Amino acid sequence: MSDTPQPRPPAAFATRAIHAGEHPDPVTGASAPNLVMSTTFVTEAGASFSAEDFGENTPFIYTRWGNPTIAQLERKLANLEGAEACIAFASGMSAITSLLLQTLKPGDHFILSDVSYAGTAEFARDFLPAHGVEVSRVDLSDPALLEAALRPNTRLVYAETPANPILKLTDIAAVADMAHRVGAKLAVDSTFATPIATRPLDLGADLVVHSLTKYLGGHGDAVGGAVLGRTDDLAPLRKGTGIHLGGTISPFNAWLIMRGLATLTIRMRAHEEGALAVANALENHPKVKRVIYPGLASHPQMALARRQMSNFSGMLTFQIHGDGEEVARQLSDRLHTVHYAVSLGHHRSLIFYLSTSEMLRTSFLLTPEQEAVYRSFAGDGIFRLSVGLEDPGDLIADLSQALG
Ligand SMILES: *Cc1c(COP(=O)(O)O)cnc(C)c1O
Repeated sequence: MSDTPQPRPPAAFATRAIHAGEHPDPVTGASAPNLVMSTTFVTEAGASFSAEDFGENTPFIYTRWGNPTIAQLERKLANLEGAEACIAFASGMSAITSLLLQTLKPGDHFILSDVSYAGTAEFARDFLPAHGVEVSRVDLSDPALLEAALRPNTRLVYAETPANPILKLTDIAAVADMAHRVGAKLAVDSTFATPIATRPLDLGADLVVHSLTKYLGGHGDAVGGAVLGRTDDLAPLRKGTGIHLGGTISPFNAWLIMRGLATLTIRMRAHEEGALAVANALENHPKVKRVIYPGLASHPQMALARRQMSNFSGMLTFQIHGDGEEVARQLSDRLHTVHYAVSLGHHRSLIFYLSTSEMLRTSFLLTPEQEAVYRSFAGDGIFRLSVGLEDPGDLIADLSQALG
């Protein structure tokens, strides 16, 4: 039995997805990771109670500070993302809000992608200004607009690529360069891409955020999130909002997500293959007006997609001729295999209709120029389809019969 926690480099991604961060149990020899649900750990007298004294080598004391199962997940994720460090959180939103509240201080300027996950957009709009943070929403798909928006007090630029829900892309290398010139950091929400498709840190980003609930867990049964980056950036986050806001992931969810990660390589290959087949079929369907998928030649940023993504993932959107709301009702009634539901990245295919006027009213307050770009991707509304791991022929048949 080896007690080295990591396989020797240079193991390929598929091998690291299975072995990195895990190690056989030193007492029992158990090959699968231990699920340690204990909230507390027997400590020596005199152990500190303060997060201030908390360091990388502190023994386990209390699960909100650290836990052996969560630590294995964190080491695996750091390895796969090529990061020095990782902190797992109770959800993607917990990761995002902990990162933003730790990083942004009163008087700081924050630049957020004009289109991003609705929860992130709403938090930046409704919470951050009350903490004295100035927020600008910028269309980061056009680096010239970022250049114009950067200020000496810009502390953080936050991109999401591909952006939920419209699959608009951001050139990470270009945006990282510009942010660094004014001393700002770049964080990238890479939930849709996964480390199989894009490695933001290699492209110059400082921080990466994931909702583990989606592709990384991959089975729709565990909510989780993560922030990855340099140890110097993550140590204060762990000691600060990480511990004090208390968004601790359940060790059980960490264990489920670790099991999901083991098959990420083959799942993403199958998600991409299925999404391409479904995208091609939808492009030829008479009821379908437009399909957007980064793997199609018709994606408005096809060249960037090919340069920045080595897998096009399983997310696509389509617009239909006629009334979107009505077709949404029709699909929710008639689909058998595809579930009409929010979320994404699961083995089950999921579809959901997002009306443009609703999105603009509830989550995104965009300028007329930004609204025009949003509509160029989404028209009056999109069906966001997360292509699962079912047989692509069955998915095409299900969608065709339901569209009529
Ligand atoms: C789902 C999602 C989130 C939020 O993650 P939760 O795990 O639901 O909190 C953040 N960003 C993106 C891109 C997402 O799709």
